[in-house]
Amino acid sequence: MDVSLSGKRVLVTGAGRGIGRALAIRAAACGAHVIAVSRTQQHLDTLKAECPSVETVACDLGDWEATRKALEPLEPVDCLVNNAGIVKHAPFMEITESQIDQTFGVNLKAVINVSQVVGRGMAERGKGGVIVNVSSILSTMVKGTAVYCASKAALDHLSRVMALELGPKGIRVNTVNPGVVRTDMTERMWQDPERAAALQKAVPLGRFAETEDVVNPILFLLSDSSSLVSGASLLIHGGSAST
Ligand code: NDP
Repeated sequence: MDVSLSGKRVLVTGAGRGIGRALAIRAAACGAHVIAVSRTQQHLDTLKAECPSVETVACDLGDWEATRKALEPLEPVDCLVNNAGIVKHAPFMEITESQIDQTFGVNLKAVINVSQVVGRGMAERGKGGVIVNVSSILSTMVKGTAVYCASKAALDHLSRVMALELGPKGIRVNTVNPGVVRTDMTERMWQDPERAAALQKAVPLGRFAETEDVVNPILFLLSDSSSLVSGASLLIHGGSAST
């Protein structure tokens, strides 16, 4: 399926690396004006060198006020992908307050903050819009990283409520819920080939996701081809029953 995002302004958070970076490049190739928001300037600089049409904005999404200040001038935005996310690995009894605050700050609070800024403009212009929130299969499947799992479960629920409240304003809201994707976030796993092989064996389709396996479904959800899809969670996990 060829996706056209011609004439659309697409804002992608966490676009410096991994899934967000791959998405920014593909969305630009689909004709969108892409606004790539991420924390580290150096990653945005290499993105800009690779894809010069992308507009880059450095911003720590964990900072509520700084985020508003950075994003409000970027309006209008037609499509928003809340992709930025972090994971802090810790057994339950060793979770710290700072890990909880940081994880929920980026994985949940920032989604609310950015969606308010962008959603307000979408509603005021009266032309609707699309929001895709990048969740995880760990929102329902449990194995370690309790705070991350909880933040993604909250994100799934938030997204359904957003779909309910923003739908009447013509704004569609969906999540994608990937399994393991080969990015820096999962680097720890690749350093343990035995563990990686065991996890991969449990995937019925026999492999982990590459960034493109997540990018393509997001592009579909951003496009007019999914114009009545809202409130959905799209699993991208190769048919896994559990982790
Ligand atoms: P990466 O760690 O590769 O990239 C994350 C991106 O988010 C980076 O560009 C990072 O910026 C940015 N980011 C993190 N915190 C902030 C912040 N406070 N402000 C602004 N930008 C920030 O992650 P992935 O590409 O793997 O993950 C993308 C999304 O997909 C996340 O929401 C993740 O939870 C989800 N996901 C990932 C899976 C996987 O297996 N990889 C599986 C399921 C879901 P910087 O470069 O500055 O660090």
